[in-house]
Amino acid sequence: MTTTTLVNPADATPFRDVEQTSLEQVDDAIAHALSAQRAWRALTPAARGAALRDFAKVVDEHIEDLAALEVINSGHPITQARWEAGHVRDVLTYYSAAPERMIGKQIPVAGGIDVTFLEPIGIVGVIVPWNFPMTIASWGFAPALAAGNAVVLKPAEWTPLTAIRLGELALEAGLPEGLFQVLPGKGSVVGNRFVTHEDVRKIVFTGSTEVGKQVMAGCAAQVKPVTLELGGKSANVVFADADLEKAAASAPYAVFENAGQDCCARSRILVERSVFDRFMELLEPAVKGVVVGAPGDEATEMGPLVSKTHFDSVSAFVPDDAPIAFRGSAPSGPGYWFTPTVLTPASRTDPAVTEEIFGPVVAVLPFDDEADGIELANASIYGLSGSIWTRDIGRALRVSRAIESGNLSVNSNSSVRYSTPFGGFKQSGLGRELGPDALDAFTETKNVFISTD
Ligand code: NAD
Repeated sequence: MTTTTLVNPADATPFRDVEQTSLEQVDDAIAHALSAQRAWRALTPAARGAALRDFAKVVDEHIEDLAALEVINSGHPITQARWEAGHVRDVLTYYSAAPERMIGKQIPVAGGIDVTFLEPIGIVGVIVPWNFPMTIASWGFAPALAAGNAVVLKPAEWTPLTAIRLGELALEAGLPEGLFQVLPGKGSVVGNRFVTHEDVRKIVFTGSTEVGKQVMAGCAAQVKPVTLELGGKSANVVFADADLEKAAASAPYAVFENAGQDCCARSRILVERSVFDRFMELLEPAVKGVVVGAPGDEATEMGPLVSKTHFDSVSAFVPDDAPIAFRGSAPSGPGYWFTPTVLTPASRTDPAVTEEIFGPVVAVLPFDDEADGIELANASIYGLSGSIWTRDIGRALRVSRAIESGNLSVNSNSSVRYSTPFGGFKQSGLGRELGPDALDAFTETKNVFISTD
């Protein structure tokens, strides 16, 4: 039996060993899922909807339990962790309405009638990263189950606890055995087996662009559909006519939330040159005001990085001669604490400007005019998210249309709502999750012609 030792990121102490799923156990789980899926899809739509509402209710009763696990396993601040557990409940509730609304089409044709059915795909393999372990899991499993599929889910090695607990809560809520199975383990073993196993008919992968490309190539061998949610280097574009106070006060939270370990982090702040100095004056106290501290403390706004390995990776972007404008504060002592850091690189091709750091490090750059701002925002292999700050509604719309990104907000930094689509342009991904259309990614359209002759 192989195990992974989990380490509390806030104090670097090992606190639990988790058994890793072997290849044989994955194959057994997939065989189990196959029979569970047949029974699940045969239930009435109303019964499937009710089962998902029961699951949501049990999650709601365990918000504190789930949040506490995320605090110790991932170092998320308790208030954020509670929000994440509540979000899982909300995603389940939202998609619990779907089974009874999976409405096909009736298409006018000659000689009969033509109807379409939205059929479940079968077994869906969901592969989850470590940065938002439970919310991202739910974006895959809730709509997949609603559409009549079974789910096998692999959490990230460092952060499996909330997903394992959600698997237990599903059973507690009465979901059938085998329908939703959480299989902790290595990406190269468990995740890769989802990709290569012929009975897993769809992959939902969230993680790095590098691994996402391998998963996509693996899926090609079986023409297996895949949804990819990958990296980002999103721009927060601040025009001279914006409410600079509001833009500057909220900018730290748009990048330092979850210690910058957020695929939507606005890790490039692009400021129109004429207001650059004023913006920096306003940004400094906002950055220094971010409360970095113990994840269990109700006042904490930012916790530690997830692991020593990740701490080293983020640190490499802030060498001794880094162009640091100013920094916030962070606890000293054990744990993977990284101080919020604001850089002003001289070059638009500096790695801190182009690469996803995935930590509390932001690069602030000036731009000359609207065209230059758009060009700079788009100068990235990624296109996940972003913000536009301006009081000019025409400009807000022009720039929103011009930025190559899946999720933009104007005079706001919010990216995620369970009721609206989420996903990336370019190398940030393929397909969309959440919102009313997510079911399309978990069903096959079947066309049936019935002759009236
Ligand atoms: P990662 O790519 O290292 O791992 C993601 C998952 O894939 C893990 O569960 C891992 O075990 C698994 N995996 C690794 N190798 C595999 C393989 N060969 N086959 C199948 N599965 C494999 O990513 P990470 O470091 O856990 O997460 C951080 C990355 O995730 C960042 O790039 C971030 O931007 C991205 N992310 C994207 C979104 C989004 O919605 N676009 C959301 C969150 C995170």
